[in-house]
This record gives sequence, C-alpha cells and structure tokens, in this order.
Amino acid sequence: MTSTEIKISKNLENGIKFSCQMCGDCCRGFEAGEVYLYKDDILRLAKFLNITGMKGLRNFAKKYVKVINDSFFWKDPDAQRGKTYRFKTLGFRFTGEDEHCHFLKDNKCSVHEMRPFQCRSFPFWQMMVSNRNNFERYTKKCKGLQVLKGKYYSREEILNWAKDEYEIEKNYFLEMQKHNFDILKVYPFLPKEMLQKEA
Ligand code: SF4
Ligand code: SF4
Repeated sequence: MTSTEIKISKNLENGIKFSCQMCGDCCRGFEAGEVYLYKDDILRLAKFLNITGMKGLRNFAKKYVKVINDSFFWKDPDAQRGKTYRFKTLGFRFTGEDEHCHFLKDNKCSVHEMRPFQCRSFPFWQMMVSNRNNFERYTKKCKGLQVLKGKYYSREEILNWAKDEYEIEKNYFLEMQKHNFDILKVYPFLPKEMLQKEA
C-alpha cells in the first residue's frame, strides 16, 4: 500500500461488470498469493464457526492462520518524509497438495457470507484499481475478469472498495505502530511458537 490518494486507472473509469465464476482458482495455489486477515475478519469468522474465548482463538490461529510479512508507506504528521514500514500480519494458512484455503469445499467458499475483506473486495484492491498492469496480471488468472459479465460496478463503487481496503490496512498499521510493531500485543491469542516458526 503506497498512497492515501487512490487513483483509478483508465480501464475502470466507466466502471465494469464483474461476477465471480466460482472457479475457486484464487482460493488455492501459491500463485494466488496470500489471503490477508485482519482482526474483524478473524472475529467474524470465529463467531460463525462458534469459536469463543482465548483458547478457541488460539486453536483457530494454529489451524487456519499463518504469520506473514507486510509493508505500509506512512508519513508521520511531524515527519518531513514518509517511509515504508515492514512488519508482521496474519494470513490464511493454506492446506493440501494444491495449497487450498481450508474453507474451500467442492470448489466453493463454505464461509461465503463471512469471508475475509480481502476475498470480498476482489477485484477492487487498490493495487489493481490504480494500476492497469496489475489488473491485467490478475485478469489472466481470474475467469470473472475475463468474461466481465454480471453485476455492474460504477467508478464510485470501485473507488469505495479500494478506499475501504486502504483504511483497513492503515488502521492495522497504526495499531501495530502504537504497539511498537509487536504483533502479540495486537493479537494476544497468537501462540508465540507461530512467530518463531515464521521468523
Ligand atoms: S479466480 Fe475469479 S472467477 Fe475464479 S473464484 Fe476467484 S474471483 Fe471467482
Ligand atoms: S475464505 Fe472463501 S473466498 Fe476466501 S480464500 Fe477461503 S475459500 Fe476462498
């Protein structure tokens, strides 16, 4: 994430039609990249799965979550220049030979209503909305972006998704910064050994 000013690339200026074709390709495989998880995602999913308390969240983390690297460009109000901060965040741990999301069942998302923001906001992530090359790179992987059928998303709707994504990332960054980038302060249920494993 690099900027608070979210620009929309020319190919999206007039909006697009998009509907997921349920191929499941973005829910499996190393090529698909990481599925980032934020606190709201975890708590919503845990509630949906009837997981409660510190012990429940700890087991949830052990089974479904991994620690991954993240970065964020930020300029403190009193600083002359901004800089890119690097820190830890959480993402889904994939499973099986094809490295699929635990919640992908028969090629469908079994937690569709409660899926993380990153899954819900695709394909309107800031890095795709602002950069045509990124959008085209994902188009090669996503059948929904190849057929461009279904629900129409206006320029404003697309920008709103990208802005919401920026806000979620920014808020996580600010919380981490407040805690001196100690992820265990933000997620106290996280088993310490998960950090050592990923280090
Ligand atoms: S790759 Fe595209 S069409 Fe396939 S499941 Fe993901 S969003 Fe849907
Ligand atoms: S939560 Fe659902 S949409 Fe997201 S990666 Fe897993 S199976 Fe796919």
